[in-house]
Amino acid sequence: MDRKTYRKIYNKNWRKNNKEKWRGLLKKWKKNNPEKVKEMFRNWRRANLEKVRETKRIWEKKNPEKVKRHRKKWKSKNQDKIKQERARRRGAKGLHMQTEWETLKAQYNWTCPACHRSEPEIKLTEDHIIPISKGGSNNIENIQPLCKGCNSRKYTKIIKYNLDFLTHS
Ligand SMILES: [Zn+2]
Repeated sequence: MDRKTYRKIYNKNWRKNNKEKWRGLLKKWKKNNPEKVKEMFRNWRRANLEKVRETKRIWEKKNPEKVKRHRKKWKSKNQDKIKQERARRRGAKGLHMQTEWETLKAQYNWTCPACHRSEPEIKLTEDHIIPISKGGSNNIENIQPLCKGCNSRKYTKIIKYNLDFLTHS
């Protein structure tokens, strides 16, 4: 037996006979080397992709409620990402942030410029003044808030509703 093998077996036996101590040492080492632990974990996951996927699948099947909650939370935290992805898939150029959309709604006094009804009576949706299908961009300049009904009535027409109603009310 060479020295390396001897050392290996010796260590293994020592760990077996000193479980508590070994655990303590390991814990301490992990605490002092968080980056290394992370890297090891990452490497392990990369080497065991199938296993990780399978474990995740089983866990998700067992915890459908948790999965749902998690997805919902992720969605509300990543509205910008979701929106941009949706627009990108439709072939839109440009993008705008959720905060820009919120500001725009405030500028319209949370009112649909086509039917003059306000939130929360209606729910404002993002209308592309020049529809994406006609080459309109997804930048905030091409967005106006419309209620669902007016949005679908407008369909693919190019209409920019005027904001006179804001000064009249
Ligand atoms: Zn409307």
